[in-house]
Amino acid sequence: MNVRFDGKRALVTGAGKGIGRELVKKLVECGAETIALSRTQSDLDSLKQECPSIIPIQCDLADADSIPNALRDCGPIDLLVNNAGIALTDQFIDAKPADFDKSMAINVKAPIVISQIIAEGMIKRKTGGSIVNVSSKASLRGMQNYLLYAASKAALDSVTRTMSLELGPHNIRVNSVNPTVAKTDMSKAVWDNPANTKMLTSVIPLGRLAEISEVVSVILFLLSDFSSMVTGSCVPIDGGCIANLMT
Ligand code: NDP
Repeated sequence: MNVRFDGKRALVTGAGKGIGRELVKKLVECGAETIALSRTQSDLDSLKQECPSIIPIQCDLADADSIPNALRDCGPIDLLVNNAGIALTDQFIDAKPADFDKSMAINVKAPIVISQIIAEGMIKRKTGGSIVNVSSKASLRGMQNYLLYAASKAALDSVTRTMSLELGPHNIRVNSVNPTVAKTDMSKAVWDNPANTKMLTSVIPLGRLAEISEVVSVILFLLSDFSSMVTGSCVPIDGGCIANLMT
């Protein structure tokens, strides 16, 4: 499968680190003019050094009011990946209202606001498009200590499904990817601990965590015309974990 995005423009949020950063590099390799949005300017600066063709946008997505202005000059977008996310951990009994608000603002509200702006342009131009929301396996199962994260990703899956219904008639496809743990800055704190990793991999039929590249390749597939009949799907990238009764 030779995925090419020549002549397409892509926007990736959370592009400074981890999955988003690798995705930006791949999109550029595949010929897409790529806009990289993230919070930390130094990450965008180093990404620009690696991929000089990218257009960086610095924005803190926790502030939804700042999003329209940040996207003001980003031009027509064909491919959108709502990847930025945070994982605040706490037990149910200790979870704080402020952390709920922050999780929902970044993991749910920002993808909605960004998608509204981008989809409006796609509809006006009658070009169609593809949107991928980066969700998590945590949306599909209970996960101790991840109350707010799992709830926000379950909400994002719901957003994905409703967007696919309303945007389908405009030939805009909307899907999510729902990965298991891949080693990035986000997951390091919990999953660098060998005991935690052993516990998780013991219920993953493939017996290992995901590589960042394995998440990126499914996103590229969903962005591309190779998935032209796929919309409204939440696609696990989990080594078979969800198929396992013991998870
Ligand atoms: P990282 O923490 O490695 O990277 C996240 C990126 O998003 C960073 O560049 C970060 O910028 C940016 N970001 C976070 N908050 C904001 C914000 N308010 N405004 C703008 N940018 C922001 O995470 P991953 O690459 O691991 O995660 C990417 C996505 O994948 C997330 O949605 C996550 O939930 C999901 N996911 C990750 C899994 C994993 O195991 N890694 C498993 C399942 C899903 P900064 O550092 O400057 O805040």
